[in-house]
Amino acid sequence: MTSGARLVILGRQGAGKGTQCVRLSRHFVVPHISTGDMLRAAVREDTEVGVAVKEIMDSGGLVGDSTMVALVRKRVNLDDARTRGYILDGFPRTVVQAQAFDEMSTDQPLDVVLDLVVPRDLVLQRLSSRRVCRDCGTNFTAPADEPRPWTCENCGGDVVHRADDTPDAINRRLDLYESQTAPLIEFYGLTGRLVEIDGVGSPDEVFLRATSAVDARC
Ligand code: ADP
Ligand code: ZN
Repeated sequence: MTSGARLVILGRQGAGKGTQCVRLSRHFVVPHISTGDMLRAAVREDTEVGVAVKEIMDSGGLVGDSTMVALVRKRVNLDDARTRGYILDGFPRTVVQAQAFDEMSTDQPLDVVLDLVVPRDLVLQRLSSRRVCRDCGTNFTAPADEPRPWTCENCGGDVVHRADDTPDAINRRLDLYESQTAPLIEFYGLTGRLVEIDGVGSPDEVFLRATSAVDARC
């Protein structure tokens, strides 16, 4: 088996993080930890966290740092992540989260932070046709003759338009990305952990760029 890896992936909404994470997680045999998927599951299951975050998520806002840090701390301390590593998708999203994560992972620090770079006008196009499986989280691109209802080919779940993929919520998330998450790029750059990956191209091309970057570092 390949050696594991401890990775964070950054990039605008629609940059292709979800698609690349599924592949990277198979390639390095590490769990894909998506905080968006975890929160959406919590909302669906009506847990205490789910009830607390639903409105924030639907409007495209950011969930509080302490909630997020607690959620991730619990997840990365499970056996699979302790032994193999992980690919973290959607976290950290603020410098406060990144600092908290460094503090909780001093014994097993991050290997690499990948920044998937795609311009804003291109991600806006991609997001308008994005659909997601409610159950397994796989992303799809809606064809012109979109099937309704649409059943996921992997798990049989419903493929739907995300509640926060409306133009207003998308723009809000992109603005928050610039203001809150872009400073992370500087934070990880200054500490020598950042690698920029050109996210424009086919999923295969981008995947090759990402794995080469990780292999060069791990
Ligand atoms: P996207 O990248 O398209 O915004 P995600 O699936 O990563 O989607 O996240 C969906 C929503 O979940 C975010 O808009 C935010 O409300 C919440 N969320 C996920 N991760 C975090 C985080 N690390 N900090 C704060 N909020 C988060
Ligand atoms: Zn599915």
